[in-house]
Amino acid sequence: MIRSLSRTLGAVIAAVACWLWASAAAASGFADFDADRETILHGRALPKQAPVAGEADVVGPWTEQDGQLDLGTEEATGNRFWLVKAGVGDVADGLVRARLKPGKRIDGSVIFRAQAGIDLKELSGYALAFDVDSARLMRWDKGTVLPIGPEAEIPRLQRASSIEVVIYLVGPQIIATVYDGDTFDRLASLAIHETTYTDGRVGFRAGKKAEAMQFGLLSVMDTRTPAPKPKGSGRYGAVKRYGLDADPGTTPFGNTRFVFVPESAVGSLPRELRKGVEARLRGDDGAKQAVVFTDTVGFERMKRMGIEVLAVDSNVPWKTFDPAYRKYAAKAPVASGRGFRLDLSYKNVEMVEALLRGYQAKYPDISTMVELGRSHQGRPIWALKISDNPEADEPEPAVLLNGSHHASELLSVEYPLDAAAHLLENYGRDRQVKRWVDDLEIWVVPMVNPDGNWMFLEESRFASRKNGRDTNLDGFYDPFEGIDLNRNYPLGWGQTPGSSGVTGSKYYRGPHPLSEPESWAMASLADRLHFAAAISFHTVGNAIFLPYTVADTEPPSPNVPFIIAKQMEEAGLEQPNKRFIKARANGYPVSGSDQDWLMHAFGTVAYIVEGSHHNPSLEVRARAIAATRPVWQTLLTRVHSGPRISGHVRTADGTPIEAVVRVEQIQLRAGERWTARARDGRFDRLVATPGRYTIEAKAPGYAPATVEVKVRGATSVDITLDAA
Ligand SMILES: [Zn+2]
Repeated sequence: MIRSLSRTLGAVIAAVACWLWASAAAASGFADFDADRETILHGRALPKQAPVAGEADVVGPWTEQDGQLDLGTEEATGNRFWLVKAGVGDVADGLVRARLKPGKRIDGSVIFRAQAGIDLKELSGYALAFDVDSARLMRWDKGTVLPIGPEAEIPRLQRASSIEVVIYLVGPQIIATVYDGDTFDRLASLAIHETTYTDGRVGFRAGKKAEAMQFGLLSVMDTRTPAPKPKGSGRYGAVKRYGLDADPGTTPFGNTRFVFVPESAVGSLPRELRKGVEARLRGDDGAKQAVVFTDTVGFERMKRMGIEVLAVDSNVPWKTFDPAYRKYAAKAPVASGRGFRLDLSYKNVEMVEALLRGYQAKYPDISTMVELGRSHQGRPIWALKISDNPEADEPEPAVLLNGSHHASELLSVEYPLDAAAHLLENYGRDRQVKRWVDDLEIWVVPMVNPDGNWMFLEESRFASRKNGRDTNLDGFYDPFEGIDLNRNYPLGWGQTPGSSGVTGSKYYRGPHPLSEPESWAMASLADRLHFAAAISFHTVGNAIFLPYTVADTEPPSPNVPFIIAKQMEEAGLEQPNKRFIKARANGYPVSGSDQDWLMHAFGTVAYIVEGSHHNPSLEVRARAIAATRPVWQTLLTRVHSGPRISGHVRTADGTPIEAVVRVEQIQLRAGERWTARARDGRFDRLVATPGRYTIEAKAPGYAPATVEVKVRGATSVDITLDAA
């Protein structure tokens, strides 16, 4: 069971814009108001709170009105204090927060750890004092005031309509931070080390130049008092505290927040927050909502403005942002022409299965569904085998087209689905398609990683590329868990750089090669079929990547995959991003990839084709799919028509034998040992050019056999091994 709880932090994958916004605002580091632990001594933090009228025993000329302490306009000759009654809000270690409106010209202080009797001329303690465009920490000693640290210039102080101050007190450490009260941008930080006063009262002071100044909030948090237990469900819905006694499966929010607000509240959001509106949807009650992507600061601003928050979550799934997916996720495939509409939305594992079933039912003579295995979480990994006589194991070259090794790469599911649809729908009307289907076995596996895909779509958009393994064995599938399936294959497994041994890494390779049911299922299929060629679809590099991607491993010479990739590249059409998919040598080391292993283990001409976009709009999706069609079609043609050497190795009595088959003109440089396949002794080798080739077959207990063959297109050769 997956728990649809709010969870995590983690990797990436959001629109670039929202990340830029998040990182800009994150610079403020504003300390959000904690209603559970901060005690308001005066005023209010949030608009809907009833204002607290402070219990002061020194009240000066201040007048109280709806939570605002107003200085008034009377001319002054000296300081005008306002101090919370002794013993009420005293703080030794903890936090003091104050919000003030500077008025015409700011001249005043936030007082803390103060000792004062009735005679204020005797005041002792500390103050964060403001002047017109600066702030400074001060110490009062029996009525005498001295600066105790450098002055911080704050040119923006005069323009701020309000400021908020947070002062942290830890023993002798005093750290004060000044923020713009509207944006929470940090204006200044001051820090000193001071041992004179350890405890005392809080309050305000207005200097003689102050005019029309107001205080609207004074609160303290005494960190010597333990935090109360978190409330189960508060006004902010899914907000959960992270800590030792948090619910299992609760993970830290980090700095990101998806805040759900009524659609009607969007108009009253400040412009920066409005930019974070990423989705609009209907809530369970049918009411329109907007989802604002923001950070702790943006969230705090919304709270302080009194915006109604319906829920806040750091773990919102893809479906929140994709109305088309929400519309079609639970629906049966929509029939269209000779097949089904594939362009209506992105697809989860259930939708992929329904489509494959639909196609198989429509085209039973040329397709069959095969369950290759089950994921960690028990989801089937489906293949659609497309071939004439689909139920039979025929002596034909096998080709693999797969998608979604990486969970969040939704487009990677679409390419193989499109290939399946295209082959089946055009079989009866396109001679080329008919030839591919009749003469090859084409295995389409649109979703290698169903758990990861499900998590990304349905649980958390922070789930990125990995599978659904509960890496930390706590019984929950967290978005940062799992294994990068494309780092889990045997060749070069464990090498770094190229993969990671850290479980939280996006590139975590797993505990051992083929440790995952998904990669195991794919490997078992490959072991049975010894694919002649394969494409693993990914996004978003605009590239055809060639084996070997693992460091320091030389591909065979001549480099047939490279030669064919150039043909695939030439065939590809312009992508919606105006680029063309390019054959690319290894840009960076990758170890444990499927293409490397397929080539190394079986001689498969294996590619990773990275599409042009990550998860684009459906319109772009359609164009990207169409532009990529000639790429895989070129590979099918090349496998079908050669030049290729195919054959069977059998013993004298006709028993297939898993002999090592070597083409002398292909120089292997990485210890490859390519054999005929067990089921029928078949081998398929794509070669660079037509010409004469020498093939040698060897098996223990048999005399090696060598055969010369003249290769034009697809050339067959049968080899018989005699007992030694
Ligand atoms: Zn990928």
